[in-house]
Amino acid sequence: MNKSGHGITISSVTKVFGGLQRPAVDNVSLTIAPGEFMTFLGPSGSGKTTMLSMIAGITSLTTGSICVDGQDISPLKPHKRNLGVVFQQYALFPHMSVAKNIAYPLQQRGMAKKDIAAKVDEALELVHLRDCADRLPRQLSGGQQQRVALARAVVYQPRALLMDEPLGALDKRLRDQLQREIARMHRELGMTFIFVTHDQHEALTLSDRIAVFNEGRIEQVGTPAELYEHPATLFVAQFLGESN
Ligand code: ADP
Repeated sequence: MNKSGHGITISSVTKVFGGLQRPAVDNVSLTIAPGEFMTFLGPSGSGKTTMLSMIAGITSLTTGSICVDGQDISPLKPHKRNLGVVFQQYALFPHMSVAKNIAYPLQQRGMAKKDIAAKVDEALELVHLRDCADRLPRQLSGGQQQRVALARAVVYQPRALLMDEPLGALDKRLRDQLQREIARMHRELGMTFIFVTHDQHEALTLSDRIAVFNEGRIEQVGTPAELYEHPATLFVAQFLGESN
């Protein structure tokens, strides 16, 4: 797989849903460096998922712009953005084998059969699931299914991988295991990762930098050490200090 990261620039992005008193995302600006592991951290309802889904193209922007390597992606449909996406629920095709699930995005892009087989092998290797290629998703544990979802999301070498609480449905042991897998994938791929979580321990463990969300705004952006040692607001100090 290639080792190339792409930069993402979010400029003054706001999202107003009809009927809400305040914007779900309120004038957010953030620059994510090529190859960076960026985490959106904050309590439920703070706008993390809305921000991620605007990057993915699932939700439209009310105002502002989002650029990848300087190109404004706001007008592009999700499948034209070349971004990998993984959600809390794995959303694998239940009737397709693991290998076929991973092959699917490559077939959609019209890749030749022999090239697909090599790419699928490489992706299975990346998530250590070589032995599971012919199994159906229901024959795998939750953690394994999520690893398949990760493999499928990066197999076509997207410009970045976006993950929304990908460990949220797993028990503690599997969560710790998959956290290590995701950290290793990030090191090996050198890809830009954006990770959404409400769990500060997860954020502090995985991230190069963390953007702390509160009521649709970013309270502070910094490395785990910067946030922990120099929280800019009481909210950041309290949120990072909480244990859950
Ligand atoms: P988080 O991911 O931090 O939990 P969300 O981005 O899901 O937060 O939600 C931010 C706010 O936007 C919340 O008040 C939520 O209820 C609202 N919201 C999210 N999606 C929609 C939608 N499709 N329609 C209306 N309101 C929404």
